[in-house]
Amino acid sequence: MMIRKPIIAGNWKMYKTMGEAIELANGVKRALSDEERLDIVLCPAYTVLGEVSEIIAETNIRLGAQDLFWEAEGAFTGEISPVMLKDVGCSYVIIGHSERRKFFYETNETVNRKVKSALKHKLIPIMCVGEQLEDRDAGRTFKVVEDHLVNGLKGLAKEEAKDVVIAYEPVWAIGTGRNATPAQAQEVHKFIRERLAVLLGNETARSTRIQYGGSVKPENIKEIMQQPDVDGALVGGASLKTDSFVKIIKNGLEGKL
Ligand code: PEP
Repeated sequence: MMIRKPIIAGNWKMYKTMGEAIELANGVKRALSDEERLDIVLCPAYTVLGEVSEIIAETNIRLGAQDLFWEAEGAFTGEISPVMLKDVGCSYVIIGHSERRKFFYETNETVNRKVKSALKHKLIPIMCVGEQLEDRDAGRTFKVVEDHLVNGLKGLAKEEAKDVVIAYEPVWAIGTGRNATPAQAQEVHKFIRERLAVLLGNETARSTRIQYGGSVKPENIKEIMQQPDVDGALVGGASLKTDSFVKIIKNGLEGKL
């Protein structure tokens, strides 16, 4: 029996114009709309959230955004609020992706504000944590992951934190074709769950879903998902084609059955 429902999300990043997004969303819908054994989430760019939302309405596929701003509304030119994301049909939001930390000055503090805001507005945060290559080489992996985890979840009560999804994404594995080995992923996922137990109690730690992200492909997902503390995947490049994303869902599920 699975303790946690697996969750696989596609992060479309800054790809897909309107027509391309509609085609991809329809392809995923055709193949997976009745799949209930895991949660499937599509995270397109803001510009196509509305269209993708309509396509996947009344299916088991859920909509997620790639970021948000923490205020509900106001004079914040260029930002998107949790209220707007709910309004367009989102139930998930990725927060603290390494590309946002690297290129857009996201910090643990802004991640924490965003996580709190998402939860307040009933969006499920997918909070990303993960070390850079130099951290791993210097033996700092656990220290960096702990820092992202503890500070990202700072001030949350057990009750609030229970819905948060954690995505462990080693930065050196994102978009590089070099995935973490299943053993490397399991080692860090286990560490995250142990830290969650200390922070939020055993029950929350046991129920929290932890995704792996970083060069996930149809060929490597099954073995990664077979690891006991891996509950799903956050997929970038391989989520941009119907065929590879659908294979990832099917092979990933096999790893858990
Ligand atoms: C990501 O963007 O979260 C990611 C894991 O990308 P990729 O699958 O392309 O490595």
